[in-house]
Amino acid sequence: MIRRVRLTGTLIVIIAVIVLILGGCSAKQENPNVPVPAVVSSPIAKETDLNQYTIDAVLDTVNKVLSAEQQVVYVNNEDVGLSELYFHIYANAFGKQETAPFLFDDFSRAYNRGFMPGYTEIESIELSKGQNRNTPEYSLQGEGDTILRIKLPEPLKPKDSINILFRYRVIIPPAGDRFGYGDANINMGNWYPVAAVYDNEGWNLDKYYSVGDPFYSDVSDYVINIRAPEEYSIAASGYLSEERAEGGNKSWKFRGSSMRDFAFIAGDSFLIAEGKVGDTVIKSYYYKDHEKRGKEALEIGKRSIEIFNNAFGKYPYHTYSIVETEFPSGMEYPGLVYISSRYYDTAYSVDNLTYTTVHETAHQWWYGVVGNDQIDEAWLDEGFATYSEGVYTEKEYGKGNGDFYYEYLEESAKEDIKSRAYDGVILKPLSGYENWDDYGPAVYTGGAMLLNEIRKQVGDQTFFKIMQTYYDEYSFKIASTEDFLRICEEVSSTEFDELFQEHLSSGK
Ligand SMILES: [Zn+2]
Repeated sequence: MIRRVRLTGTLIVIIAVIVLILGGCSAKQENPNVPVPAVVSSPIAKETDLNQYTIDAVLDTVNKVLSAEQQVVYVNNEDVGLSELYFHIYANAFGKQETAPFLFDDFSRAYNRGFMPGYTEIESIELSKGQNRNTPEYSLQGEGDTILRIKLPEPLKPKDSINILFRYRVIIPPAGDRFGYGDANINMGNWYPVAAVYDNEGWNLDKYYSVGDPFYSDVSDYVINIRAPEEYSIAASGYLSEERAEGGNKSWKFRGSSMRDFAFIAGDSFLIAEGKVGDTVIKSYYYKDHEKRGKEALEIGKRSIEIFNNAFGKYPYHTYSIVETEFPSGMEYPGLVYISSRYYDTAYSVDNLTYTTVHETAHQWWYGVVGNDQIDEAWLDEGFATYSEGVYTEKEYGKGNGDFYYEYLEESAKEDIKSRAYDGVILKPLSGYENWDDYGPAVYTGGAMLLNEIRKQVGDQTFFKIMQTYYDEYSFKIASTEDFLRICEEVSSTEFDELFQEHLSSGK
């Protein structure tokens, strides 16, 4: 997620001036002094122990209701038996004004058509294991009823699996947000029951916080079939494996391997521009009067994928979609990102579109492929995505501009924290932050500054080796701050625990 675009007109003017001062250095030229690391190849994980989601969904675009049958093959990858399973039903947070996940200043923007509840109506849940079928006891719990608890008839042993069949209806709210509909789009982020993560803390059953991206999930395999009126286009995580016309309707079958989540956006007025980076197909979905910016978004997406492929390791999926939609800024999902329709207006500088797209694209590496607990250690994705904006800047506009970008970020974050008297602590759970103004400077910028400090200490070559090793080792897994610290120390043979402690916990 990106909350606000930090680049002001002034900064861009300065960057442009610097590019001009450097003279003869075209914006596209790379600084020969910055080493371009070799690509680390990261094949898609092929373990058979991933959870598998198969969803058959019908989208009623008139009434804004989705009806679904969802089968989950749940694999117990823990070393203890599980006597119950938990799923997040994030849509239920939108059921009441009090739990709708917006801070008050965003609420009226998101619900500019007035508040109407959104929620999931579970019709039935069945379990099956071998020949045995049964209807389990289940209940909703947590703030906003966003946690579904399913009691298993007997504990699920380690490595054993069970099939769960859900039948449900999703009532989509009129909200310009991750989940909700606008005039030209239906945003389906966090729309289906998704298994909670069981880790060394046990089950992670956090609520849908208004601050941050409060999602935490394991990678899974997906086959999602969506039926909607034929005039619609569907942009989705995963690649389109089949498309069929069915008397006025169309059905699209998407597949995704080793993906951390599955989102889609349906729209009846999208135009699509398409390009390729290696074997990855990049698509830009935009409204028809936004062709200039829609095509620019494609180029920015292509260039970001190229730069991050080289800097960190290869993007592992078949497709990547950048989608214009009604949303306040940008939001990442695996294989698909939301970009605010406002940034497609040529009255605004293209920098808004550029830096939002770059940031969300970087999340494909940091959050998507390398996962983390976004509730407890959000800096591992937001700090890394923010740092990656600087990597993009230096590759596109030269090292001087990259350095300038980090300095600018650092100064403005320090100012923000000081003037508002926030503690600036980076490593604490979402519940510890008052609001986005508190969270942003600490987690986004403070996190990026730690990476910048590591780079200053070990040099460019070792720094990128650290980033590549981390990406390679934690692809499709969940990494913690400890894991990243270990890799920094192993790759560079330097002690970093004091630096980490000072940056992450002291708020300096
Ligand atoms: Zn972000």
